[in-house]
Amino acid sequence: MSLRTELIEACHKVYANKFVSAYDGNLSARIDSSKILITPSGKCKGELRETDLLEMDYDGNLIDGEGKVSTEAKLHLAVYKNRIDINSVVHCHPIYATAFATTGEGLPRPIFPEVVLALGKIPLCKYSTPSTDELPNSILPFVEFSWAFLLENHGAVTIGKTISGAYYRMEKLEHAAKTIHAARVLGKEKSIPLYKLNELYSIAEKTYGIKLDKRNKFEF
Ligand SMILES: [Zn+2]
Repeated sequence: MSLRTELIEACHKVYANKFVSAYDGNLSARIDSSKILITPSGKCKGELRETDLLEMDYDGNLIDGEGKVSTEAKLHLAVYKNRIDINSVVHCHPIYATAFATTGEGLPRPIFPEVVLALGKIPLCKYSTPSTDELPNSILPFVEFSWAFLLENHGAVTIGKTISGAYYRMEKLEHAAKTIHAARVLGKEKSIPLYKLNELYSIAEKTYGIKLDKRNKFEF
């Protein structure tokens, strides 16, 4: 499957799953060391076609395609410039994850072992004015070791080695946020206790081939 086909499939999925509304969000994939494929601004992700996708350079300049590069492209560039292992970035406004980002609470505790394994600790990045350099700067303190980010009063970003890797992290993030919200109808969710979390860390690499980064400490 071509990179364009795969990126369009992910665009259709984020819209179908209501992770974005109207023209919101943007998705991208690294083509090579000089080009990035990205969705155009002002178009609904659910209606995008392969020919709508843009190619931009690492300074955010349009090099191929018809349309406008979103000001949020800066978020994507901040990831690609700092993480050589990452080839795709998904930015959406999913309702439940964004709700946790809006109360200022975020999702700082380890609740679900599979979410810990797939996303690690999810940082809450400080609110920043759209289109300014504040936006990419808000993820910089965490970009080296995080896989999913909540943007305060805004939305979420997930990243991956592949387009599907980045997309499924967004799906997992929103599912976790929704489940925690449901749990609060019944009571209060419990965190995984620290000794069990350490057990999870120790088997992660051996069993799942995942190296968890302990620089980003969970809260209990
Ligand atoms: Zn946004």
